[in-house]
Amino acid sequence: MKLGFNEATCMKRSNVEMDLKLCEKYRYDYIELRLDMLKDYFTSHTIDDLKEFFKKSHLKPFALNSIENINFCSKEKWNELVELFTFGCRVAQEIGNPYMIVVPTMYEGVCSKTEEEVFIDSVNVLNKLTDIAESYNVRLAFEPIGDKRWACNSIRQAYEIVKIINRRDVGLVIDCINFYLNDKCADIEYLRKIPLDKIFVFHINDCEDLPLGVLDHCHRLFPGDGCIPIKEITNILKKKGYDKSASLELFRPEYWKMKPEDVIRIGADRTRVFL
Ligand code: ZN
Repeated sequence: MKLGFNEATCMKRSNVEMDLKLCEKYRYDYIELRLDMLKDYFTSHTIDDLKEFFKKSHLKPFALNSIENINFCSKEKWNELVELFTFGCRVAQEIGNPYMIVVPTMYEGVCSKTEEEVFIDSVNVLNKLTDIAESYNVRLAFEPIGDKRWACNSIRQAYEIVKIINRRDVGLVIDCINFYLNDKCADIEYLRKIPLDKIFVFHINDCEDLPLGVLDHCHRLFPGDGCIPIKEITNILKKKGYDKSASLELFRPEYWKMKPEDVIRIGADRTRVFL
């Protein structure tokens, strides 16, 4: 697999310009840019600056993050979502970024929608977004978020949605902590059922050994420092032939306080062990 960096990892102290420079310095292969950070970047840069950077760098764009709360939108929310999505598609097309990550809706407490309601709505909205994305040559990577607050929270549930949609441009994000947050990877073998052409993005991270219900995204750790069976997960993906980005994605407040260069350097060393 290739080494990737997701901008959430240093987002509180870094910016697009700094992430690009540091990822190139530490020989990352891919970067997952964030849409909010890109909006900041474009207040003082142009799309040509970004194109120019990638033209002369080893580092390449991989996936944009992220279009969130896609399910059960009001008309007003949907229009806002489509506007951001279209902005992302335009940037992606210009810089040759293949994937856009889309995330199910989060509820305050537990999501109380039935699985069937989530299934029907997800198929509908993912189809609508793909209709837009196709004309920009962008593919949708749907990411289940493991906690029960999210409408779609297991790889099984997300794969059933993607499978029925059955479009070349719709696939999945496999994220270690989201896999673990659902049931502590109790059914790790399920990963073997997902065909390679439906695995678009892989997010690599570890986490603290906390009970489900307590464990959250702030407990993410560098790969190898926690309790997720990363080796088993990466072995299954490699056996399938997945050889694209393993993108380091951390949302840990402690790492946000560190110097971005230290996080990016340490992150590269820790992640390379699993590639
Ligand atoms: Zn992720």
